[in-house]
Amino acid sequence: MTPLEVLNPATEKPIATLERAGIEETDRAVAAARAAYPAWRAVKPADRARLLRRVAALVEEHADGLARLETANVGKPLGDSRWEMGMVADVFHFYAGAVEKHYGDTIPVAGGVDLTFREPLGVVGLIVPWNFPLMLASWKLGPALACGNTVVLKPAELTPLTALRFSELALEAGIPEGVVNVVVGPGSVAGERLIAHPDVAKIGFTGSTEVGRHVMEGAAKTIKRVTLELGGKSANVIFEDADLERAAAAAPGAVFGNAGQDCCARSRILVQKSVYDRFMKLLVDATSKFRVGDPEQEGTDMGPLISADHRRKVAAFVNGTPLFKGKVPDGDGFWFPCTLVAATNEDPVAREEVFGPVAAVIPFTDEEDAVRIANDTPYGLSGSIWTRNGARALRVARALETGVLSINSNSSVRVTTPFGGFKQSGFGRELGMHAMAGYSEVKNVFISTEA
Ligand code: NAP
Ligand code: MG
Repeated sequence: MTPLEVLNPATEKPIATLERAGIEETDRAVAAARAAYPAWRAVKPADRARLLRRVAALVEEHADGLARLETANVGKPLGDSRWEMGMVADVFHFYAGAVEKHYGDTIPVAGGVDLTFREPLGVVGLIVPWNFPLMLASWKLGPALACGNTVVLKPAELTPLTALRFSELALEAGIPEGVVNVVVGPGSVAGERLIAHPDVAKIGFTGSTEVGRHVMEGAAKTIKRVTLELGGKSANVIFEDADLERAAAAAPGAVFGNAGQDCCARSRILVQKSVYDRFMKLLVDATSKFRVGDPEQEGTDMGPLISADHRRKVAAFVNGTPLFKGKVPDGDGFWFPCTLVAATNEDPVAREEVFGPVAAVIPFTDEEDAVRIANDTPYGLSGSIWTRNGARALRVARALETGVLSINSNSSVRVTTPFGGFKQSGFGRELGMHAMAGYSEVKNVFISTEA
């Protein structure tokens, strides 16, 4: 295969050239993981926890270098990358703690004693996208390793650099060889091979709904377990009784953060008609202050998109005159401005995941209308509700078909709380103790006490 040239999207310049893994290399990685599995699953829980804690400590020690590498490869602001590396370390701290807290039950039955065990699955394949490369990998690596599995991680070809650096740190931390393997190769080759491989017990996948559907189909052949974290088209619902200043100040970050390349992006802004004009003035003002530019410069809120290809796809969603269009730097870089467009929920910009800094602003009449519009989408990943009425907040929270929701906040992810989708945003939960269920199998053992 031709070598892989890795670009910096803010400069369009190459920053690394790598060899691509094909089928043979992927098979070698699976074989290494398979060979390392018996010894890894037999490591004493306290020792496995200790090793994961060392991984966390090394990520902390190298956080600045990892953050700079992520920023160079994804084009995201350095502040964002630093936050992500902090989360990566916290994820390993959390799952180090989880190792010894994940155990079975004794169940009262007639004629004996019944015990359950939480067994690892074996070799798991982890396939991740380019938008939060190491952070999303860590959400899978943490619970997978804590449960005693060995892994083959396939990063997106656009952004393989932090995964490779991480694999070095894992070795340095004392994780045995073969436990963490990274294959850098195209999804259509290395990814497909992981899905088909008979020795891979599970695929943990984050990416588009389209490829997720394909992963699920392929996994059926060997009855592989799958966890799918897919796309989103989340609503940010602004009620007339909200603190409009706070809601408007938070809205740009909720959709333009990571240049909109965020599965949790609140890319449909639903605004109650009675406050539409007032809110839009505040929103335009807040959006015009969102700083787009050099990701390495302190204070930058948004960098470029990931690639020229992706920019073309995003641009196709903006037709006619937007409500607001921000500024971008001159010169090289895959820049795209923060854009607010007036829409109905039927428009493509409101139905499809744009995955760029484009927000569809949609008016609604009352609470019932808001819930109807918010739920009228094939996706169900995240969302926000802004209101000062506590009963309404809880009523609407219960009515929305979404896996993750925040009230008077943009916050989507925390290390300790479950994250995942409803509907075509996928299934399975990452983070918190919930994720341990996705990387283990329950074994039930009955012991007769009959004489
Ligand atoms: P993607 O095209 O689905 O790719 C995701 C990963 O799958 C990449 O590593 C890709 O490899 C690989 N892949 C592609 N085709 C494959 C195939 N036929 N078999 C096996 N693997 C294959 O998604 P993306 O464009 O990178 O990322 C954007 C999408 O991810 C968005 O839809 C977004 O919503 C979603 N996302 C979801 C979450 C979540 O937690 N729910 C989080 C972040 C992103 P290559 O790219 O190397 O070919
Ligand atoms: Mg793709």
